[in-house]
Amino acid sequence: MKPDLFEAPDYYNLDELLSEEHKLVRDAARQWVKRDISPIIEEYAQKAEFPNQIIKGLAEIGAFGPYIPTEYGGAGLDQISYGIIMQEIERGDSGVRSTASVQSSLVMYPIFQYGTEAQRKKYLPKLASGQLMGCFGLTEPNHGSNPNGMETKFKDMGDHYLLNGAKLWISNSPFADIAVVWAKNEEGRIHGLIVERGMEGFSTPETHNKWSLRASATGELIFNNVCVPKENLLPGKNGLGAPLGCLDSARYGISWGAIGAAMDCYNTALRYAKERVQFGKPIAAFQLQQKKLAEMITEITKAQLLAFRLGQLKNEGKATSAQISMAKRNNVDMALKIAREARQILGGMGITGEYSIMRHMMNLESVITYEGTHDIHLLITGADITGIAAFQ
Ligand SMILES: Cc1cc2nc3c(=O)[nH]c(=O)nc-3n(C[C@H](O)[C@H](O)[C@H](O)COP(=O)(O)OP(=O)(O)OC[C@H]3O[C@@H](n4cnc5c(N)ncnc54)[C@H](O)[C@@H]3O)c2cc1C
Repeated sequence: MKPDLFEAPDYYNLDELLSEEHKLVRDAARQWVKRDISPIIEEYAQKAEFPNQIIKGLAEIGAFGPYIPTEYGGAGLDQISYGIIMQEIERGDSGVRSTASVQSSLVMYPIFQYGTEAQRKKYLPKLASGQLMGCFGLTEPNHGSNPNGMETKFKDMGDHYLLNGAKLWISNSPFADIAVVWAKNEEGRIHGLIVERGMEGFSTPETHNKWSLRASATGELIFNNVCVPKENLLPGKNGLGAPLGCLDSARYGISWGAIGAAMDCYNTALRYAKERVQFGKPIAAFQLQQKKLAEMITEITKAQLLAFRLGQLKNEGKATSAQISMAKRNNVDMALKIAREARQILGGMGITGEYSIMRHMMNLESVITYEGTHDIHLLITGADITGIAAFQ
């Protein structure tokens, strides 16, 4: 892979809106990605393997629980810092960002928000340091966009719960030490349970042959009469709103993360267009290529403003789920379109692993599908503005 010459585009001087802390967080994450991700990521994506050695570095830049209070091992940062970290990591690779998003928003967040004090103390510091890795099981073979139909269920056996069912498409599952699992009780109410690796009847087979997020491990969660201790139930919230609250937090991070992937594709294409000579001129001199590049920076700038304002609303506790859906949908779609255009600017070179663009493009095909598909987020916006849900 080519040396990482990334320079972040900031067409509307967004830097001026960032605090000193935001800039410190960003610089640390950016340097780490340049040093520890860029040189190795293509190789790991090609061999479809998660680079385990990066876990310590992710913890050190505050990527595990950026907004979780420091008393539980988190970084105690604000929501804009969280977004910036996700942006910088996804600039390197969406699969690596997925690992950080899952750990922070889908594992640490529910334990922090819905867990007991004992659960917080037991799990959060170890999750923040990367000593424990987690995954989040909501999607099932028969229930993706409609998780409310889930079939995974647990029964109260007096001194423990008995868990049965299966989850599919679970990021981090093949190596996770714990899983936050969403399952229905005998009354059909959804609850979160912490399932630990090693519990009898619990297995996590890996899903192979993905063309997307190849450096992220994805797998199943199988529960075959798993005895779960009663103290592993998350008591603070139940019903579908509980997992959806986690998804709000993760989707917010994705709305920033996708900008990172787009910035990398744009920056690579801009540099290439200025260097590559055809018909006696750099291809950047041709209007068709300028149109592509000019539209890219326009879309990136709009997405940056959307994410920044959403971050302010999140900091104030005012961001709605529908606002988060709009940003996730817009920014991932923007990044995927930019990846496709950038790929074309590089001509044949664009399809090789010498450059990051094709990997970003393939990764974003998952990002546009997980955490609510492109269609479902549009329908959420539709429901929000009309008051009529068209997806049920
Ligand atoms: C790499 C990867 C990692 C993932 N990681 C996780 C994870 O860690 N944890 C987890 O729980 N899940 C995870 N997922 C699952 C992901 O969230 C689901 O794939 C996603 O929610 C879509 O579900 P589905 O694949 O079953 O598609 P479906 O729900 O079957 O949808 C198929 C198509 O139908 C459309 N559709 C569905 N319903 C409607 C409707 N009402 N109106 C119009 N169109 C509709 C969808 O938009 C989509 O285009 C992951 C997925 C991938 C690919």
